[in-house]
Amino acid sequence: MKVDPMKLVPMEAALTDIPFLSLRDVNARYADELKAAAARVIDSGWYVLGDEVAAFEREFAAYCGASHAVGVGNGLDALSLILRGYKELGVLEEGDEVIVPGNTFIASFLAITENRLAAVPVEPDPVTFNLDPAGVEAAIGPRTRAIMAVHLYGQLADTSALTALARRHKLLLIEDAAQAHGAISGGRKAGAFGDAAAFSFFPTKNLGALGDGGAVVTGDAVLAQRIAALRNYGSDVKYRHLFQGLNSRLDEMQAAMLRVKLKHLDEDIAWRRRLARRYREGIRHARIQLPAVAREEQHVWHLFVVRCAHRDALQRHLLAHGIQAQVHYPVPPHRQPAYVALRNAYLPLTERLHDEVLSLPMGPTMSEDAADRVIEACQSFECPP
Ligand SMILES: *Cc1c(COP(=O)(O)O)cnc(C)c1O
Repeated sequence: MKVDPMKLVPMEAALTDIPFLSLRDVNARYADELKAAAARVIDSGWYVLGDEVAAFEREFAAYCGASHAVGVGNGLDALSLILRGYKELGVLEEGDEVIVPGNTFIASFLAITENRLAAVPVEPDPVTFNLDPAGVEAAIGPRTRAIMAVHLYGQLADTSALTALARRHKLLLIEDAAQAHGAISGGRKAGAFGDAAAFSFFPTKNLGALGDGGAVVTGDAVLAQRIAALRNYGSDVKYRHLFQGLNSRLDEMQAAMLRVKLKHLDEDIAWRRRLARRYREGIRHARIQLPAVAREEQHVWHLFVVRCAHRDALQRHLLAHGIQAQVHYPVPPHRQPAYVALRNAYLPLTERLHDEVLSLPMGPTMSEDAADRVIEACQSFECPP
């Protein structure tokens, strides 16, 4: 990964010497297995809702320690179908409120509003940037029916406090686990804490397909059945339509890819933890705040996010050293044009975080040498006056 000073390197190549994440490298490790899996699907002649999806659903449910997984088209649909499923079951009604972190990816909000439910954004915990149970409790009102706990950046939200809150106030606890496959607490994995959980297999996620994919994971057999019908035109048996469903299915090809990659997920997580530990030990800079971790096993480091009041300058400084850092996310959902109705929500910490967070390169194929170069570059950062 090091630039050889004796070799002439084109400018562009030098600038992205350490990419944020190389998907090509991630999948190249399993190229032979992936190609064999693809060939198996091609030869089978069956491409939608077949043996591969059924097998992946069993394997992923088992991995999460939950009884059911339902493969769907993507992570947003997984979230949305959970809420839709509860509507079909009469548990949720239009206009009901769902509490959601203000500093999440916009998909968490979209799933709520797509179902004509009301998103009630709350401020994060200032140290972990994850959902703050006290803030959640303060936001509970007469129409609150659910809490959407996002395991942001790959770190579990405070599941014990949130589970207790949900039980006390008779609320659904829904996990947005799109960034947290494999995060674990007290022997329980992401996806097995709430009433239902949504996963994304977008290629950049810790468990990524080679295209779009998602899954709902739940211990509730009735909800799982409902969602299995909803994803397939609302149909339980061919040409019988119980609900006005949609078409959002995980396809056989992606399920086959995911079955290969699921076998290696724990090794990938272990490597991410190793890089994260290196970053946390190596970066000692008065103006760069490192991510707070409750317990190692609770974080799977989908993103390694630091906070810096001079974020843009830090990002430029890293780029000048050939390091590509990214911002997750530059504008919070309530400040997006899509959500003018929420524009006046009072979320000062959320807004500040969006101006100050920076995600350092992180991934299962990043070398320790590359991490050391990122550390060096951070250490040499001089804050503008
Ligand atoms: C990626 C992501 C989603 C959406 O998943 P897609 O598969 O891209 O639709 C939802 N929530 C969070 C927190 C995510 O990071």
